[in-house]
Amino acid sequence: MKIIMLGAPGAGKGTQAKKIAEKYQIPHISTGDIFRANIKGGTELGMKAKTFMDQGMLVPDEITIGMLMDRIGHCINGYVLDGFPRTIPQAESLTKALAERGEKVDYAINVDVPDENIINRMSGRRACLGCGATYHITFNPPVKEGICDTCGQELVLRDDDKPETVKKRLDVYHQQTQPLIDYYKNAEVLAEVDGTQPMDAVFQGIVEILGE
Ligand code: ADP
Ligand code: ADP
Ligand code: ZN
Repeated sequence: MKIIMLGAPGAGKGTQAKKIAEKYQIPHISTGDIFRANIKGGTELGMKAKTFMDQGMLVPDEITIGMLMDRIGHCINGYVLDGFPRTIPQAESLTKALAERGEKVDYAINVDVPDENIINRMSGRRACLGCGATYHITFNPPVKEGICDTCGQELVLRDDDKPETVKKRLDVYHQQTQPLIDYYKNAEVLAEVDGTQPMDAVFQGIVEILGE
């Protein structure tokens, strides 16, 4: 099962992708998590990516596409991609790489949330840079304030989740990523869920799409 998560920054792609990965036993691959792990590790890739991420811009396709292709190379049983593709050239590269192996994306799930809800979601998001877990101070708080339930590390407000940067990321989303909805509609694999519902209800909608 090869699944792509579409949606604005903060729509809940990561939250739902983790649930999908667990239920259907496929890897969750988040390009944002890969970049953040590289920044934390001080790699060259991380340093390149950081300058773009801090400004709310996309990391250039020539960096991102190669990195993602390396990561999915040996995942033959499928995966859920969270945060990739984000541009038409990224989507085309993925389609082409899969076609070369006689494969295709099975589902592109668009988690639909209007811009008005996004700023709130992002300012309340808390991230664990240790294990990639995400929380929300109101909607999904950790057991102990400021500490990751899973690995015990301190939670942070991501630099790019500050309101100024979120506005920029939303602009970038509308310009560069939203066109992917039509791209996958044309490919006849698009499914939509209402991302404004509570997390469990959104997941229920996704299970109805993917099957038990
Ligand atoms: P969110 O889940 O809030 O949308 P991500 O963790 O997916 O954020 O991404 C954080 C940042 O990492 C993006 O704003 C962008 O700078 C960079 N990034 C992640 N995925 C991609 C991608 N596919 N192409 C380009 N940049 C990306
Ligand atoms: P994305 O990966 O699309 O950027 P996240 O999954 O990280 O989004 O979710 C963004 C923030 O909103 C997080 O703090 C998360 O806990 C919270 N969140 C996710 N889904 C919902 C939901 N359905 N209702 C309320 N808050 C949510
Ligand atoms: Zn953690």
